Amino acid sequence: MTNFRMISQIIEPQYVIEGAGVLLRRSIAPHKSNLFDPFLLFDHFAFNDPIEGPIRGFPMHPHRGIETVTYMLEGSTHHRDSLGNAGLIGPGDVQWMTSGRGILHEEMPRRGESGNIYGFQLWVNLPARLKMTEPRYQEVNAETIPTYEKDGIKIRVVAGQVGGVTGPVTEIAASPLYLDVQLPPDTEFIQPIPGGHTALAYVFEGEGVFDDKTIEAVKLIKFDDGDSIRVETENHPVRFMLMAGQPFKEPIAPYGPFVMNTMEEIQQTLIELRNGTFIK
Ligand code: MN
Repeated sequence: MTNFRMISQIIEPQYVIEGAGVLLRRSIAPHKSNLFDPFLLFDHFAFNDPIEGPIRGFPMHPHRGIETVTYMLEGSTHHRDSLGNAGLIGPGDVQWMTSGRGILHEEMPRRGESGNIYGFQLWVNLPARLKMTEPRYQEVNAETIPTYEKDGIKIRVVAGQVGGVTGPVTEIAASPLYLDVQLPPDTEFIQPIPGGHTALAYVFEGEGVFDDKTIEAVKLIKFDDGDSIRVETENHPVRFMLMAGQPFKEPIAPYGPFVMNTMEEIQQTLIELRNGTFIK
């Protein structure tokens, strides 16, 4: 029998200011309680409303011990890093960046033809054995992200599998599922998710019925354990990011853009930054 996952928590994203004064909506942030293991942070950025002010970016900053996943819907983000990588993450593109032992990078959003900027950044943890791994990028152009389509349902598959469609991002420690799901009105959608994996849905347009509860944008839903997620729509369409991944069940020590396992490893990171040995 199918064991549909129930909602365990509904989170209202909070406005926070990050980088050089970027106002964004943050749903979760790294905390040693690690309640969303393997996920650490989920930010939603947009510059399409007067409240959000001028476009500012994220000037050079380091990361260690995590993966940052940038998904642009509108506009783009120009990035460059200490290893000589540079590029533009355009509309519909994904950058899955495994910081491993460390990078210094800059992320600067730019308006697109629409005049808007709209995107998400997800942070996924790395297990202890991979925290000091070599940095790696998986840059996925919009055209190479496959779309699962059936009965008006449209799902862009970044990582994981929907029906017979497999996402291009692979070899990620958390075995993640990362989907951009669009459902028309009067639809039912069921997605299997392995038992024991953490599952979150970020509802950012419209409304849908999750676990028999109507959820309106904008909310982050955390699900209890089970073997699949069931979503229905009634009179409205809904669009949400669906993410799931295997928890590592390790202690974490978060400190700004670093997430290690112990405070000693954080102190070591800060020493390396000061003495110029952070980048290997
Ligand atoms: Mn960054």
